[in-house]
Amino acid sequence: MTKMPELVSLFNGMGGACAALISLVEYPHYADNKLSLLTIALGLLIGSISFSGSIIAYLKLNGTLNKPIRLPSYNILNAVLVLVCFGLILGMVFVPALNNQAMLLVLLTLSLLYGVLFVLPIGGADMPVVISLLNSFTGVAAAFGGFLYNNQVMLTGGILVGSAGTLLTIVMCRAMNRPLFNVVFGAFGGGAAAVDNSTAGGSVKDISTADLATLMFYSKKVVIVPGYGLAVAQAQQIIRELENILEANGVEVKYAIHPVAGRMPGHMNVLLAESNVPYEKLVEMDEINPEFPSTDVVFVVGANDVVNPAAKTNPASPIYGMPILDVEQAAHIVVNKRSMNAGYAGIDNELFYNPKTSMLFGDAKKALTDLVNELKQM
Ligand code: NDP
Repeated sequence: MTKMPELVSLFNGMGGACAALISLVEYPHYADNKLSLLTIALGLLIGSISFSGSIIAYLKLNGTLNKPIRLPSYNILNAVLVLVCFGLILGMVFVPALNNQAMLLVLLTLSLLYGVLFVLPIGGADMPVVISLLNSFTGVAAAFGGFLYNNQVMLTGGILVGSAGTLLTIVMCRAMNRPLFNVVFGAFGGGAAAVDNSTAGGSVKDISTADLATLMFYSKKVVIVPGYGLAVAQAQQIIRELENILEANGVEVKYAIHPVAGRMPGHMNVLLAESNVPYEKLVEMDEINPEFPSTDVVFVVGANDVVNPAAKTNPASPIYGMPILDVEQAAHIVVNKRSMNAGYAGIDNELFYNPKTSMLFGDAKKALTDLVNELKQM
């Protein structure tokens, strides 16, 4: 499950490559028809961008390329590259002297280059947006293929993928608080100024399993914040057991679901559905945020970026502007993770140094199992 986004990127890249290959193969057969030529050129452009961009996204997600690479003025460079590509397409369609195989190969090269340059600067918490955007590109490229062949299945499939990807991109943009314009022109991720200078630091307080069990046992309301670490530890069954025990003792339990928690959209919903957590207990960010001031204990399990207050307080942070779960408003905050290491965005989290926060260090599955055993004895 945690490797899914890499797989999605690879599949997506293959879809883009297929669309680009269709254009390359079919060019000699349709070069005389302006509309077909336009379709071929656009399919090549979008398919190639999707292919090379997805491969870079794959390398980023599997950790091979783990730092955003930003060339000087990359926004301008990318915008110019796109304009040159569109200029070339118009040239091929309307200027007979430019309508040849060599120009098609130039277009292929520039499109592949743009895909690389478009994804390279993107870092931190922005990958979900770019993956769904590339997904919609592949759909559109496939739709051009369907249009060319007059194949309605291919056309409909491409349009469905393209529109679903676009909708998802818009939803993700809202969740990440990134304007779509910035996404398209590669200006997101905070640009060159996105250096974390968070003021996190200070002392960290531990909590024992026994103390946490007592704290939860005597609480009225506990909100669990699941994150990537919960998925890695495969602790979804045991967290459901924790919920059952607490509820049997009269404690109200809810799950706070951040739209980009985990490694793919809907990751936490799918994970918790596996352990039959009732759907109404999964509360979206906007609905749960007003509830934190009336929450006794927030239990953050393997989540980090989605509860990082730097998103609200530190304009230099790469996640600045991303809406987060306002867990610091609860009476007690308990964070379970294995160490003080950073999350996906690679930045420190001042929540861990908050006087209201206690850390329960350890693998989520083991920590939760110990906690459940402790509660069973109370
Ligand atoms: P994060 O990656 O920010 O944090 C996860 C935390 O889990 C880490 O700090 C890690 O700390 C801890 N962890 C790892 N393994 C375990 C374990 N076995 N037991 C307990 N803890 C563990 O995850 P979030 O869910 O908070 O945020 C998701 C991030 O991923 C966001 O930045 C988001 O933008 C990004 N993202 C989201 C995608 C999506 O579509 N949802 C796609 C791609 C990226 P430690 O090592 O100390 O244990």
